[in-house]
Amino acid sequence: VALILVYHRIAEPIVDPWGLCVSPALFAEQSACLRIIADPVPLDTIALARSDKELPDRPVAVTFDDGYAETLTNAAPILESFALPATVFVTTGYLDLKGDVWSDELASLVLLARADPETLMRRCGIESNAGFPVRGTRSGWYAWEPATELRQWLYCTLYDRLLGITSPQRSELLGEVRAWAGAPLPECDSARMLSSAECAQLASVPQIEIGAHTVSHPVLSRLDAEHQKLEVANSKRALESLLRKPVRAFAYPYGKRDHFNSESVAAVQAAGFECACANYGRPTETSTSRWALPRYQILNWPGNRFADEITQWFRE
Ligand SMILES: [Zn+2]
Repeated sequence: VALILVYHRIAEPIVDPWGLCVSPALFAEQSACLRIIADPVPLDTIALARSDKELPDRPVAVTFDDGYAETLTNAAPILESFALPATVFVTTGYLDLKGDVWSDELASLVLLARADPETLMRRCGIESNAGFPVRGTRSGWYAWEPATELRQWLYCTLYDRLLGITSPQRSELLGEVRAWAGAPLPECDSARMLSSAECAQLASVPQIEIGAHTVSHPVLSRLDAEHQKLEVANSKRALESLLRKPVRAFAYPYGKRDHFNSESVAAVQAAGFECACANYGRPTETSTSRWALPRYQILNWPGNRFADEITQWFRE
């Protein structure tokens, strides 16, 4: 049995509704832990193993999704100092992006703006009679918990709406939210994405491998087979021409069971990948399909909690 872990950002922003961030200090604790309680291996060692005999006792692979600049600036030095292998799945359309990815920008704007959320609801034609209180901005809320105030409910509502529309429609709606929020908020730190040069630099770190994560980070299962093929194959091609080496691993955006389908798997196989990662937590066995490798999302846990989780997952 093996475990595959997924991280997104190594950073400490004020709001993090999807639990995507681990602080640099806690990531260092977690990395130190992995060296002691597990046998870190590259992803393909787990993905391609045909029997447990090919694996060490407690194999764990580390992966990162999306391609945040922090992967190079904050994660890579820690990975290097603990000699941890890692695979970084890069969304090629986000390389050299000016500003934040829409989901990060939405979180900062809606959860932190001082403007009145009811005004934004009127502007966007959104109604709620759930009677949520309007309080000051607060951090420490996760979007999978029930909303307890209007801003949180509004964030979830706008997130679902933005996820379901086309990119031009998304820009328009995000423009509305930006106009409502007013001037950029001083406390908002940007979640910058890698530049192409930084991606190449990351790829040159010996124990880091770059994988593909589509071009535009869509929910693949909502696209027809032809568009899925383009998203999958074009991200591989773009990375291979940038890095001048084969890109062998893929990760489905969002990655829950309903975010990809048999056409997505076929597109990944046709593009010539060796394996593909999903995003739901369970152990990987040698009988697990290498086209939907499960991964555990790691939260901002201190080392001892992280160690407890890893130990528990090995028992599952
Ligand atoms: Zn992603």
